[in-house]
Amino acid sequence: MDGWSYPLNLLGIPLVCLSLAFHYSFSMKTFCFITLMVFPWFVFSQLKPTIYDKMIGFNYTDIDTSNSDIRSITELWKKYLMQRLDGFYRKIDTAGYNYWNEEEKQLYNDPDLILSTNPFLNYSQTNILSIKPIEKGFFQIMNVKGWVDDSTGKFKTQVIFYVMAKKINDKFKLYNYFYLDKEKLKVTNVKNVCYYYPSDYKFDNKNALNFANFEDSLSNLFNCPIPKALIYLVEKNPTSLMNHLGFIYDGSIGTGKHGGKFIEKDNMILSSTNENHRHELVHYFTKIINPDVIGFFDEGLATYFGGTLGKPFQWHLNHLNDNIKDKPDIDFTNENKFGYIDDKTNPQYVLGAIIIKYTIEKYGFPKVLALLQYSKKQNSFSDVIEKELGIKKSELNTFFRNYIMENASKRK
Ligand SMILES: [Zn+2]
Repeated sequence: MDGWSYPLNLLGIPLVCLSLAFHYSFSMKTFCFITLMVFPWFVFSQLKPTIYDKMIGFNYTDIDTSNSDIRSITELWKKYLMQRLDGFYRKIDTAGYNYWNEEEKQLYNDPDLILSTNPFLNYSQTNILSIKPIEKGFFQIMNVKGWVDDSTGKFKTQVIFYVMAKKINDKFKLYNYFYLDKEKLKVTNVKNVCYYYPSDYKFDNKNALNFANFEDSLSNLFNCPIPKALIYLVEKNPTSLMNHLGFIYDGSIGTGKHGGKFIEKDNMILSSTNENHRHELVHYFTKIINPDVIGFFDEGLATYFGGTLGKPFQWHLNHLNDNIKDKPDIDFTNENKFGYIDDKTNPQYVLGAIIIKYTIEKYGFPKVLALLQYSKKQNSFSDVIEKELGIKKSELNTFFRNYIMENASKRK
């Protein structure tokens, strides 16, 4: 482990006591007393890494610290990550903002396209694997984030990713990997959406226009303007999508073919389906009206309008029906027991969509808006359903089973 400066600080304490002694005309006896009392505490507090130090634990192995540019970049990156973690604790959205270049600060609310995808990345250790000069005066920093598993003592990798740095007016600034990467992509603007896609991808204008119309319909339903600008990245699969942002490895993404992601703070949609990824757009509106929206309703609405995993809601309803027919003991209301059937569907999303469909058909969309107003910190979805829709918790299981069987069988 490197990058810490405890030894220097240790020398500092007797010097501080000595200068205090002179300042306040302490006797030498008093000086020795203060030093002896304070020194052990100071040694202890400095040598024992705080939980803060542990999390931001910063290691590098193959870095040429004799090179002043590389030393500056290492310092910049370390200071940024510390500020970012501190900001995360204290809920300061702009923490570390000034470490980024002006152009990307204008473009994104949160210029860090890696950490904005998953706030929990703030918590893990960062290890720099390399810092290398690349094209156009940029340096590429390769990192691995993760933590040491206390039970095995082994390092668990969370993500491996690139970030970049470049000297602007004698000072290094951070850049996203995507900053250079997007120069290699094709761009098409349709209304407020800026689409980026690889050169071998056949852009479908009709899909893009349908997406623009869908934006307008949601804007009417939510009584909320469409986003000023959306960045929309299309790729063949979720892995390639994340590669464009700078991820080399991301342990959290599924292996499914049809992934999508909405990066809330940056108004950015990633889609491995097509130009009309409705599911992710719904999240833009739900998060605008309530950032603390209950996930069950949020994903339910997104799935109702845009399906999930590349298939429409009705397909998932039928799929669920096929799976529950001969299983009378399933408890639909238990998220832990009914969270997974197979890789093709997400049962909780489908149940959420059932509640949304039922609500729209029985009460109209304003009632959906009422469901979305509840905070996930204070309410469970079943409490809200009981309060707003009058379906008691004890009746919810039967409600889901009957709904699935009736609505799936209608098609046959
Ligand atoms: Zn979603």
